[in-house]
Order: sequence, then C-alpha cells, then structure tokens
Amino acid sequence: MHKINWKFDNTYSKLSETFREFVKPTPVHNPEIVIFNHELAKELNLDFSKIDNRELSKIFSGNSLPKETKTLAQAYAGHQFGHFTMLGDGRAVLLGEHLDNKKNRYDIQLKGSGRTSFSRGGDGRAALGPMLREYMISEAINALNIPTTRSLAVVKTGEKVVRENLLEGAILTRVASSHIRVGTFQFIAAKQNIENINTLVNYTIRRHYPELISSKFKAYDLLNSVIEKQCSLVINWMRVGFIHGVMNTDNMSISGETIDYGPCAFMDHYDPKTVFSSIDKLGRYAFSNQPPITKWNLARFAECIIPLIDKSEDYAIKLATDLIDNFQNIYEYKWLNMMRNKLGLFGEEKKDKNLINDLLEWMKKNKADYTNTFCHLMGVKSNDDIYKKTDFLAWIEKWKLRSELNNSSKERQIKLMKINNPVIIPRNHKVEEALKEANNGNLNKINRLLDILKKPYSNQEISNEFRLPAPESKEKYQTFCGT
Ligand code: AMP
Ligand code: MG
Repeated sequence: MHKINWKFDNTYSKLSETFREFVKPTPVHNPEIVIFNHELAKELNLDFSKIDNRELSKIFSGNSLPKETKTLAQAYAGHQFGHFTMLGDGRAVLLGEHLDNKKNRYDIQLKGSGRTSFSRGGDGRAALGPMLREYMISEAINALNIPTTRSLAVVKTGEKVVRENLLEGAILTRVASSHIRVGTFQFIAAKQNIENINTLVNYTIRRHYPELISSKFKAYDLLNSVIEKQCSLVINWMRVGFIHGVMNTDNMSISGETIDYGPCAFMDHYDPKTVFSSIDKLGRYAFSNQPPITKWNLARFAECIIPLIDKSEDYAIKLATDLIDNFQNIYEYKWLNMMRNKLGLFGEEKKDKNLINDLLEWMKKNKADYTNTFCHLMGVKSNDDIYKKTDFLAWIEKWKLRSELNNSSKERQIKLMKINNPVIIPRNHKVEEALKEANNGNLNKINRLLDILKKPYSNQEISNEFRLPAPESKEKYQTFCGT
C-alpha cells in the first residue's frame, strides 16, 4: 500500500492510567469524505496524493486505523460556566502524535468518534453542521495568524444523530499542538496525587515550554509563561472581534491555541457586550468579558500547581496571586499596543488611550462595523454614510495629528494597519448560508467561502457580498453549542 508518511511518536499514551483511557473509535456505517484539507496535510508532510476518497473516508472516520496508533480518550475536568465537573473526551479519541519533517509534534484527534468512559449521558457523536463550522472557523482563525487547532478532514458517518432533530452524523479530524487544557490540570489536581501533577508539569514543559526544562522554579515559570501565552491569545481575539463563546476551563489550551469551536462567532457592529451563544444568558463570555475570564481561568490553573510552586503553601499562594494579579497590567499594555497597530501608530503617546477609546465609543454609539471601520481608516473605503458624520471626521483629524508624531511615512503606517486589520472575516450570515447548503449536500458555497477566508488581510478586491455585515434584521444572531 502507498505510504502516507505518518510518523507517530506517542508520548501521552505512556502517561499513567489516571490521564487517559485506551479506547477505539466506534466504526461507522457508511463513511464518506466531505472535505479534506490538502494544504494542511502538506504542511504536516503527509502524502494522500495516491489515496482515493474511499480510503480517505475509512481513515478519517476511524474505520481504518493507521498501524502505529493506540487510540485513547484523555481525562480532564473543567469549570463550565463557573461550575466544576469531571469531564474527559466523551466523543473524541487521539489517534496519536504525528511528527512533521521538522519534528514539530501534532495531536491528530477524531472528534465525534463514538462513546468513551467519559461520555456521561452523551452518544459520543457529532453532527455535520457543527463539525463543518469548526473546520471553517478554525481555518479562518489560522489564516488570521492567530494560534489555533486546525482541521484536517470532515467525514459523514452515514448515520443519523439524535439532537432536537435527526441530523447527519460526522467526524472532524482536529490537529492540535496538544490537547492539554487548564481542565487537564484540574482533573489531575482533583485526584490529589502530587506525583501526577509533577508529571503533568514536566510533560507540559517538555512539550510546549522547553526553554523551562532546566528551570529551578518550574511550576512558577510555567504559570508565568502560560499567563503570557493566554494573554496574547485573547488580545488577538479582541483584535479581530472574535467571540469564543464558551471559555470554560476545559476549552482553554495550555499551549495558547484557540480550541473548541462551538458557539463562537465574529462581532459585526461594535458592542463590548456582544454575546451570540444561546446558552450564555448572563453574558459570562461576552466580547469584553473575554480578558477577565482568561484571568479567572488562569487563576484556576494556578490553583492546581500551588503545591509545586513552593513547599510553604502560604508563600506559594502569594507568589501565584502576584502573578495572576499582574495579568491586568500585561493585558492593558499589550492591548494598547495592539490598538496602536490597528490605527497605524508608532511610538507611545500619553493621549493614545483616549484617542482609541473615543473611536470605540463612537463605534458603539453609531453601531459601526468593527472590521470595516478599521478598513475605512486604512483606505479600503466603503460607501457607508456613517463615515461622513461630522463627529467621525473630527476624530479623524485627531488621529491624523497623532499620526504626524509617527516619525514615519504614510506607507509604513498603512503597511502596519494592513497586517493588523483583516478585510475579510467569516461573516455570520455567510457562514450560516454555506452551512445550510452543505447540509443539503452542496459544497460550492463552503468551498468558495473557505477560499476567500484564506487571505483575510490581502483580499481587498473581494466584493461587498463577503465584506458587509448582514443587513439589520429584527432577529438577533444566535449560535448554539456545537454538538
Ligand atoms: P464541549 O461542550 O464540546 O466542550 O464538551 C464538553 C464535554 O462534553 C466534553 O467532555 C465532551 O467530550 C462532552 N460531550 C459533548 N458532546 C458529547 C456527546 N455527544 N457525547 C459524549 N460526550 C459529549
Ligand atoms: Mg470542550
């Protein structure tokens, strides 16, 4: 048989039983490949060029497992909307860790692959719509240069899943730098075996923070690094108007990748209170709550490793608290710089914060589109009359005055703006339209949208159809937990 070039080197499976359950995917009735990410396969140095669709369908449904695999479901816990629960992969299995030619390590995971001992009441399955949604948005986030898990394939199972309606079943192949979550630490910490926490800290450092291998204060340094990574991630979300929607601690990756695309969506008109998820009644995961929730989740992570930070519990708590409390400062500093980049401002001026907040305030008051307002400023004009308003023009004058302090050319300013402000984001109505057609078996729209989303910063000639927000309607856009 033709060689795909899998290079599995499975390390997680060597951890003790507490961390996982060995379990195989449950074979499916009639697998059929729906979408396959050839570009990603290439990046992973995998070769599917001689594999036909039938074989692809078998592989990415879990019906036919590569030889070197020993599939497993990972154990984890999580605070879901603030409530602690023991969880685990209830509908996913890890095929293994694949190494590319540069020895970068990737988890290859099947999501929707059947029941495991962590399934609780669930059926272990996933529906086609949500899996295609994850595929589309994760690939869009990647193209926006934001750390994320990737999507390699979606396969229809040929079986129905029972939700509110009967839906087409599907399996997504997710590629991640790992699936270690804040919740993984919470699960191990809840078992109160300090040896296991130590193992997980060391494993995480070796895999994600190798610069800390010889640190004398591993747990402390790890906390510091994870704070930094998570902070950068959430700043990136704020930059492009992304709302994750379900930032439970089990959905926060220790590597700092965006993970678990359920009810996520992009904000159109600027409103910090924007929430799309139908179950987020209190707005816990609203746009502007994402930074404080990141900090809250990091505090849950810190709690897990307290015993390893210092022998004296009081002192360990003090050290960890100081780090967590500093999140706010790191965030504000990075946020300000991120917004300066969006406005093409070099250097730091005292009044920058006011200038930025004035713009945001104006956007909120006028329901201006977040993405397109920055596009307008960098010269990708729209005909929207909103940008002719006198208060906006007055703000522009202030911005121009500030820009004069750049000590730099207009070209450099625009260049900076262009790499920070996307022209194209997955517009909610376009995503829904593409999914609706895909559910009916027509993939034209989803393929076209995926293609357009590949170049979010340079696709400036693209028609308004993909650039404008949905026309205002009485109904608020709502997303549902992807199950
Ligand atoms: P999520 O909302 O996708 O982050 O999932 C939260 C938890 O519920 C995880 O432990 C999942 O594995 C589990 N889960 C979600 N959907 C199902 C399902 N259909 N069957 C079994 N477990 C599920
Ligand atoms: Mg999850």
